[in-house]
Amino acid sequence: MMETVNLFLFVVEAIAYFVLMVTLLHFRHRLGLGVFLTALGVMHFMETYLAAVFYVSLPFGDVSPGSSVFFSGKLMMILMLYLQEDAATVRQPIYGLFLGNLLTVGIAWVLQVHQPLQMSTGHTPDVDFLKEMGWLMVWGTALLYVDSLGIILLYEKLGEFFRRRVVLRFLISGFVLLTFDQIGFFAALHYFLDVPIAAFWGGWKAKMLAVCLYAAMFAVYEYRIRRIGAAGSARSISDVFGDLTFRERYNDLLERTGRDMLTGVYDRTRMEMEAPLMLLEALKQGSFATVLIIDADHFKDVNDGYGHLQGDEVLKAIAARLGTTLRSNDRVFRFGGEEFVAVCPGTDHEEGLLLAERLRWTIATSVKTPDDRPVTVSIGVATADEDGVDFTAVLTAADGRLYAAKKSGRNCVVGRSGVVKLS
Ligand code: GH3
Ligand code: MG
Ligand code: MG
Repeated sequence: MMETVNLFLFVVEAIAYFVLMVTLLHFRHRLGLGVFLTALGVMHFMETYLAAVFYVSLPFGDVSPGSSVFFSGKLMMILMLYLQEDAATVRQPIYGLFLGNLLTVGIAWVLQVHQPLQMSTGHTPDVDFLKEMGWLMVWGTALLYVDSLGIILLYEKLGEFFRRRVVLRFLISGFVLLTFDQIGFFAALHYFLDVPIAAFWGGWKAKMLAVCLYAAMFAVYEYRIRRIGAAGSARSISDVFGDLTFRERYNDLLERTGRDMLTGVYDRTRMEMEAPLMLLEALKQGSFATVLIIDADHFKDVNDGYGHLQGDEVLKAIAARLGTTLRSNDRVFRFGGEEFVAVCPGTDHEEGLLLAERLRWTIATSVKTPDDRPVTVSIGVATADEDGVDFTAVLTAADGRLYAAKKSGRNCVVGRSGVVKLS
């Protein structure tokens, strides 16, 4: 009977903790983040105290609400703080708790030098207890430090496998890190405070139960409260970003920067950063890398005949054909006005020529001016390492061949041994 009541109280405590803390987190922009962080810190003292001495009987063992409800809750709050802010913010409570605990221990040492007065009978200050608690807290927060890093890294890692399943990621990260924590913290309880081994499994099960409760509440919060609020706010980017951690947002941004505005392919700055590395990497693996430089034929006439805006449309069409014809490891960059550069790792000269020829043919047969005249390109092809080992040398060789292609009448591919296509 008592066990059922305890279990009921356990669930109530978890709900109360979550609702209160998430409310503070949710309204942090209005209240200030300090309110959430301070509450987290105050609870930290209590939960360590409870974890040391306060145990209740649950259907699956003797459990301290301190470590199962409140410590687990705090770790989940740290993960939620990370999801809504970033690593720099989440460092603050982690370091703050740790340094605060060291201060507690230090102050307990100083306090014991005093001769305290007895102000009322039966109430003597327990400095030994304070010191013991202090050390337990130092150990607990050292573990919390590792737990926090671990839970964030694991959450990020799981994003590689199922990025959109945020609740599942939350749940698994909680299971793994709290299992680790239970082993570490229980070792200290057992060693310093003689808490019996039997309490290990009860404590572990209680932590897992707490994670399930928190994950369920997290799901409700994510899908019923936060996203609806985010969609209603003035955020310009779609609420898809609600799913993403700071790192994922950063990677997304990185992926979208360095793109050419008009055509959507990578820009020249990106080429200068990446192309040399792509070549280097291919050569290091004992392979080849082929560079194509592609220039539209008589493009001035397109502009002069149909206007620059129509010229732009033609450029977009060319870029789109490049994107669909090349393979996933290849990269296209806009080199200049109507010139593109493609870098194809793991591609020898023969393959590069075939690829270039396919590109030339695709463009000549599918890209048209507004009055249906075909648009053609000329392509120069060069390959590392025979045409040079650094990108500049290979590009220069390809550029020379592009000139030769223009001289040979355009709409053709020129490689190491001259024009590939004659028609
Ligand atoms: P060639 O066959 O010898 O390459 O002849 P071309 O007319 O294409 O000569 P060139 O490559 O020297 O000229 C490039 C032209 O491309 C000049 C410029 O008006 C046009 N151009 C460059 N950038 C853009 C752009 O962003 N949009 C449009 N519409 N035209 C561009
Ligand atoms: Mg041109
Ligand atoms: Mg040009």
